[in-house]
Amino acid sequence: MPRTKPLSTVPANWCEASQRLVSAAGTRHYTDRPYTCWRCKVACVFTAADQRYTYEVKKASIDQDRLLCRPCWQRRNAILLALGECQARWNAQRTSLRQDPAFLSTWLALLDEKDQYIPYRRDTAKKSMLCKLLNPPLHAPPPPD
Ligand SMILES: [Zn+2]
Repeated sequence: MPRTKPLSTVPANWCEASQRLVSAAGTRHYTDRPYTCWRCKVACVFTAADQRYTYEVKKASIDQDRLLCRPCWQRRNAILLALGECQARWNAQRTSLRQDPAFLSTWLALLDEKDQYIPYRRDTAKKSMLCKLLNPPLHAPPPPD
């Protein structure tokens, strides 16, 4: 991909946390930053214009970098949205959803897929809870009379 022109930064447009960052203080220009998508390994460029939009309009922290290409980023966002819906349903109807294998396995699959897109904050505890609900121990104690 051809390089685009560097763009001047306007630090007054950054979020407050970015303005306080010593490492960002000398940043006068945005220049294209090539990177490799963490998930699908495609070569990408975080362009100067994208950076200006990300840091000055969306007010992301200036030290935030890109990890994913656009399609992977969009899939990541869809997964996070669906996980939020699972959590909200679970909070509202936990008792009935404990007995709902379709719901439990969908939620578990989303958590597994999320780990392919986000290299941190794995929900290990939630996954093991879902696995237990989906596969109760074979030798469970008999129910009390
Ligand atoms: Zn990708």
